[in-house]
Amino acid sequence: MQFLQKVLHSLNVCHHIEECLNSGGLARPDLDLSWATELLHRPTNVGLTPEMSMTEKMDLKINEVFFSIQGESSYVGHPTVFVRTTACNLRCTYCDTKYSYDLGSFRTLDNLVEEIQSYKTKFVCITGGEPLLQKNTLPLMTRLCDMGYAVSLETSGSKSTRGVDHRVKVILDVKTPESGAADSFLMENLALAQPSTEFKFVICSEGDFDWSESFCRQHELFEKYIILYSPSYGKIPESWLAEKILQKKSTARLQLQLHKYIWSPDMRGV
Ligand code: SF4
Repeated sequence: MQFLQKVLHSLNVCHHIEECLNSGGLARPDLDLSWATELLHRPTNVGLTPEMSMTEKMDLKINEVFFSIQGESSYVGHPTVFVRTTACNLRCTYCDTKYSYDLGSFRTLDNLVEEIQSYKTKFVCITGGEPLLQKNTLPLMTRLCDMGYAVSLETSGSKSTRGVDHRVKVILDVKTPESGAADSFLMENLALAQPSTEFKFVICSEGDFDWSESFCRQHELFEKYIILYSPSYGKIPESWLAEKILQKKSTARLQLQLHKYIWSPDMRGV
């Protein structure tokens, strides 16, 4: 591990990955680190020339880019370009994007922006995996905001949102006990939240519901932010969560993953 940290530092390839390793930020010690190893052994000059500017050289490991209907958050229903980054430091029990853990290829920001522009929408969602594991996610989002895009970021809540452009709508997960990633939430993200931040809880059980209510009340989230409760797909009925919200007089919003109802729940790229 020490060797890995040293090489990461000397290459200055990915500060966030190094930070993750240093801080023990990986929620499970048995995680496959092959994605980090791949970053380490990647030649740094592939496709790059000395004439290229710094921004031309910035890249990100991307799992997929696709155009679909936004299925979540207050941007639900908008035709949106999704940019899914590779790698995640968590392993949630209900994860439906396991294919993003390792698979992907490096793409420059210029190349990504070019593809995003080819879709006729002003909505871009940066998702993962965990987008904040890669430092170049930040300049990509700022660049898209400068271009007039409505940018949203879906993040697990386990990595700091410091440095995220204030124009970005952050959808901040708070992992519930039954997610398998309990206690992964980084409390500094509460102080970094903007008025536009939306907090998302994936509910797997009554225990998760009660835990989420208690978390929101303890940190006065209901008063300040949009709170989204999403039923863990296939684990609890949507109607159960709807009734629970009404019974308990919660002010959370019920969120269904719209794309899973329009298309097959297992379909990728939607
Ligand atoms: S944070 Fe998201 S991508 Fe990562 S394991 Fe959990 S559900 Fe999957």
